[in-house]
Amino acid sequence: MSDIASETHVQRNKIAAKPGRKPKEVWKFFTPIGQKKDGHQSCKCNYCPWSQTHGEPSSMEAHLALSCHKAPIDIKEKFLLIIKSRGKNQIINLEEEKSILPIKRKRSYQ
Ligand SMILES: [Zn+2]
Repeated sequence: MSDIASETHVQRNKIAAKPGRKPKEVWKFFTPIGQKKDGHQSCKCNYCPWSQTHGEPSSMEAHLALSCHKAPIDIKEKFLLIIKSRGKNQIINLEEEKSILPIKRKRSYQ
């Protein structure tokens, strides 16, 4: 008699793509180097010789946005926005992870 119970269970599958601990998008633009050390992955920028021994997503994003001279302008703008919005909305960010909101499209930016 547990048919109904298992059915409700199946419905939970809908949330397949959970927000949160997925690999950062910034890694698409970096090449990992060697092995992880102490939980940190060394990496190198795909556009220039810049590399980092502790691949921290925030500094990688900052590199692309601010200090990489080879990255395409649309990539730079994209990460510039990410950095800016993170600076302002750190608290809001936490709330967004709890309630699975649809990701807002870019606001029209003048
Ligand atoms: Zn670079």
